[in-house]
Amino acid sequence: MSYKAMDGTRQWDGSKKVPEERMAVKMQSFARTGITPDIAGADLSYALKLQYDRWKAKGLRTTMEITPAEYTMPQSCSKNTFWSDEKYTHERRMHMANLSQKYYKGDKCIDTQESQIAINAILTDTTLETSAVESDYYCCPSCGAISRIKELMTGCPYCQTKFQISDLFPKVTNFYFYDDDSSQIKKIKNIGIAAGILIFILAVIYSMMNVEHFNVMNIVGAAAGGAFGGICIFYNRIWNL
Ligand SMILES: [Zn+2]
Repeated sequence: MSYKAMDGTRQWDGSKKVPEERMAVKMQSFARTGITPDIAGADLSYALKLQYDRWKAKGLRTTMEITPAEYTMPQSCSKNTFWSDEKYTHERRMHMANLSQKYYKGDKCIDTQESQIAINAILTDTTLETSAVESDYYCCPSCGAISRIKELMTGCPYCQTKFQISDLFPKVTNFYFYDDDSSQIKKIKNIGIAAGILIFILAVIYSMMNVEHFNVMNIVGAAAGGAFGGICIFYNRIWNL
């Protein structure tokens, strides 16, 4: 799990034990260098490579800074296994983060984006009985040729690289993120409440100055007006998000 460093900032655990965080670390260097994350599965690596090449052909590049958000999610929300059989499990791991991304054409920065995001990583792992997958086919991480897992463990027939099962699993087989609007909503809620209180105070002052027999009903009316105004402003902002 991400941890607080000596300087008080939150840092990723970049070890292979936390694949989704290692992926976040490695995506930053991928954006700079085009070297795909070692924790990414073969298909995901290939998709990233194609994306990088397409950008490069257009003279575009990007830099990414992904830092863990201050708050972390409870494990019950951040991890869930959505598919498994006797050989493999697929788990979704979530992590809140801050993303700062810059886009360049040549040397010119053409856009900058700062956003709060929810990272989603799909993890593919073997079940405890790793022997169950030994006769399955796997794409050699070194040369890309397809062999059985047990062959890769004794040495790939094509490039002779030897792998341990821990080199092959777990892998991040999908990785995506989307904007996390929850902190925005909190801010808008506070604006709505502040606006409601302001409307209430102004309405009370107005009634006191202009109504002949000022009574409790005027205060109730002002409170209702304030609540209505605050709610209108809240929903108006939400719709414009
Ligand atoms: Zn090989």
